[in-house]
Amino acid sequence: MFRRVTTGSSAGFHGGPSARRLARRAVAPLLTLGLAALLASPLAAQQVPTPKEHFGFELGEDGKLADWNQLTAYYEKLAHTSPRVKLDTLGRTTLGRPFVMLTITSPENHARLEELRQIQLKLSDPRKISGPEELERLLDEGKTVVLITHQIHSTEVGGGQMAARLAWRLASSDEPRIREILDNVILLQIPSLNPDGTQWVSEWVAKHAGTEYDGTAPPWLYHYYIGHDNNRDWYAFTQKETVLTVLGAHNAWHPQIVHDIHQMGGTGARIFLPPYIDPFEPNVDPAIVAGVNQLGAYMAAELIAQGKKGVVINGIFDAFTPARAYQHYHGGVRILSETASARVALPVEVPRERLQGGREYDASRASWNFPWPWEGGRWSLGDIVDYMESAALALLTNAAKNRRYWLENFYAINKRAVDGWPTWPAAWVIPADQANEAGLAYLLRVLTIGDVEVRRATSAFTVAGRRFPAGTYVIPMRQPYASFAQTLLEVQKYPDLREYPGGPPKRPYDVTAHTLPLLFNVEAVPVERWDAGEPPLSAPIPRRLDFEFTLPSDLRGRRAPRIGLYKGWRESMEAGWTRWLFDQHGLAYDTVMDERIRQGGLRRSYDVIVFQSQSPRAIVEGNPPGSLPPEYTGGIGQEGIEALRAFVREGGRLVAIEQATDLAIEIFGLGVSNAVAGLPSQDFYIPGSILRVDLDRSHPLARGMGEWVAGWFWRSSRAFDVTDPAATVVARYGAGDPTLSGWTLGPERLAGKPAVVEVRVGQGSVVLFGFQPNYRGQSVATWPLLFNAMNPRLAGRVATR
Ligand SMILES: [Zn+2]
Repeated sequence: MFRRVTTGSSAGFHGGPSARRLARRAVAPLLTLGLAALLASPLAAQQVPTPKEHFGFELGEDGKLADWNQLTAYYEKLAHTSPRVKLDTLGRTTLGRPFVMLTITSPENHARLEELRQIQLKLSDPRKISGPEELERLLDEGKTVVLITHQIHSTEVGGGQMAARLAWRLASSDEPRIREILDNVILLQIPSLNPDGTQWVSEWVAKHAGTEYDGTAPPWLYHYYIGHDNNRDWYAFTQKETVLTVLGAHNAWHPQIVHDIHQMGGTGARIFLPPYIDPFEPNVDPAIVAGVNQLGAYMAAELIAQGKKGVVINGIFDAFTPARAYQHYHGGVRILSETASARVALPVEVPRERLQGGREYDASRASWNFPWPWEGGRWSLGDIVDYMESAALALLTNAAKNRRYWLENFYAINKRAVDGWPTWPAAWVIPADQANEAGLAYLLRVLTIGDVEVRRATSAFTVAGRRFPAGTYVIPMRQPYASFAQTLLEVQKYPDLREYPGGPPKRPYDVTAHTLPLLFNVEAVPVERWDAGEPPLSAPIPRRLDFEFTLPSDLRGRRAPRIGLYKGWRESMEAGWTRWLFDQHGLAYDTVMDERIRQGGLRRSYDVIVFQSQSPRAIVEGNPPGSLPPEYTGGIGQEGIEALRAFVREGGRLVAIEQATDLAIEIFGLGVSNAVAGLPSQDFYIPGSILRVDLDRSHPLARGMGEWVAGWFWRSSRAFDVTDPAATVVARYGAGDPTLSGWTLGPERLAGKPAVVEVRVGQGSVVLFGFQPNYRGQSVATWPLLFNAMNPRLAGRVATR
C-alpha cells in the first residue's frame, strides 16, 4: 500500500509557522534631550517607546523590515504605555499567528468606548432611533469611526512598517492636529491583514540581505491559500483573516471610513487616491460615491500642499466589484491608496524616461487629476512610508474636522436603505428545500456574515401565483445592508465601455459578475409585490460561520483515487484556491512539486494529477536561473513532460484547467485547439462573467448534474474546437448568447463550442477545462464537474487510439 500524505498543509514549503526570529534587542531607552523636546508631553516621552527604541532602527530605513513578531511586541508596548491605545487579538491567522487590532482614541473616549460603539450602531440602523431628539443626541455625541487596514498584500511592505509609526505618533504626540483626531475619531487599526505573509516577507528579506537575491520576494503565494486574491474575498468570506476583519472590525463598528493601504508598480504616479474611475457598482449609495470623492481629493490636496509630487486621483482603479469593497454596502466609504513600490525594501532609481502613465493620466504631463508630476530619481521605502503616513493623517484629519458631516451622511445612507430603494424588490425569497444544500448553506453564510437580516416565513404564502411553504427564507429589502444582498443576488449588467465608439473595451479593473445564485446554483426569487401582503416572519436567523460541503463518496475511503495537485514555485492563485477547496472538503491529495514530476514513475504514486491554470512556460521552465536561489528555479522541464506522457499512457488521468490546457494539448498532440485564441478584444472580450454551460448528462463526468450549469469565464478561459476521434465532449457553452451575468463582447465566438473535453490517451485520459471550475472558492455550481474529474473511473466511451 502506498502511504497517503495529505499535504493540504504544504507548510514545509512555506517554512511553516516559523521559529521566532532572534528578536532584535531593543536599544536602551536612553532619550536624548532633542527627542524629548520634540515630544510635547514629558510623560508620554518617558513612557511610550519610540519605534527606534523598540526596533533598533527607524521604520522605513533602506533594506530593513520589522517582522510580525517584533511588530506585535511593539503594539503590546504601546497598549501598556499609552492610555490612548487598546490592543485586541481578534483571532488566529490561517497558520495560527495572532491577528490583532488596535483601537486608538482619546483616554476620555476610551472610558466610554462601549457607549460610543452603541451610538454608532444606532446610527447604522435608523429603525432603532426613537425620533429627532434622540437622533440629534447621537449626532452630537458620536465619533467618526475609521478603520485603517495595512499590508493585505505582503510584498507591499510599506504599509506594515507605516502602521507602527502611525500608531506611535497617535499614541504619543501632543500636536494639536493629533489631539483633534483623538478627540473626534475612533481609529480601528489592523496593522496587517495577512500577518503570515508579513512575517514571511520580513524573514525572506532578512535572510537574503546583502546577497545577490537582495530585493527579491518569496516565490510562493503570500497568503497561504490565495495570495493576492485575499483582497477579492470581501463577500465570499472564505479565508480566516477576512472573517476576523468583517466580524471584529466592520460588523462590530460599521465604520464610516475604511482606508486600505496598498502599493502599485514603481514607474508611474507616486500615489493613487480616489475618486475612482467609472463604473461604480449601481447599488452603492450616491452619498458613498460622493464621500469617496470628497475624502480622496482632500487627501491628495494635503499631500500636494506638503510638496509631495506625483499624486494622481481618478485614474487606474474602478469601484465595480464588492469583492474589494465590503464597506460600500455597509454605509462606509472605501479609500484605497496605492503608493509606488521600490524593490521590496531596497531603493530604486527611476530615470525620467522610464516613467509611464496609466489609465486616465500621463506621468510626464500635468493634468487636473495629476497636477504635479514626479520627475523621476531615487525612490525608497522611506518615501513610501512618508507618503502613506501623510495620506493616513490627512484622512484622519478630514474625519475629525468633518465629524458631523460623516455622521449625518452615514445616518442618511442607512435611512435610505431601511426605507428601500425604488430599484430594489420588496424582498428576496429563497426556497428552503433546494437540491443543492451546500450552495444554500454557503449563500446563507455569506448573507449573515454580511449582516443581512434573513428571516423565515412562519406560514405559507404566494408570490405571482407561486406557493412557498412555511420555513421559506425571506430577505425583506428594507434593512440597513439591503444593498449587499441586492448586488449579490441580482444579475449584473456591466456598462459597455469602449476606448472610442466601436473600439476596444475599457478593461474593468477586476471582474464584472458576482451573482451568487448562479455561482452557487441555488434559487433566489425577487418579490416585486406580495400577493397578499408580506407573510409573518421569524426573527433573523443566527449568523452561520460554517461551511457544509460533502465530498462525493467515491473520493473518500480506501478506494479513493490518489490525487496529486501540481504546485511549482510560480504557483497560480487558482492552484491555491484549489488547495483551499480540497482542504475544505477534506479531500486527500499530495502537493506535487517540480522535482517529483521530473523524477518520473508517477503512476506508482498517483491516479490523477491536476494542473490548475498556469502558462505552459511557467510550468515547464519555472523561475529563470539566477532570478532566485537555485532551489526555487526551474520547472518540470523536458523530463517532466516525458514523465507526464508515461503517467497518462500507463493509465493515469491528467486534469488541465484553462491556460494549462495548452500544455496538455501540446504534449499529447491532442486534436483540440483554443477556438478563441488571438481574437482582437473588440471582437471577443470576457473579463470575468458567468456563462451558461450545457452538459451532456450521459457523460459520466457530468454525473449528478442538471442539463446546464453556470460556469465562470474570464481572461484565461478557453473554448475548444475538437477534431480528435478519442475525445468526448462533456460540456458546451450555451447556444446564442450564453451570458448569464456580467459583460461579454462577441459571445457568438464561443456559443455552442466545447467547454469541457475528455480525451483518451493510451490507458489513461486527459480532461480539459476551458472555464474555471473553482472561481475564487465560489463556483459551487461547477464543483461537481471538478470532483468527478478526480475519479478516473468516470470516463466517456470512445475507441482508444
Ligand atoms: Zn495591493
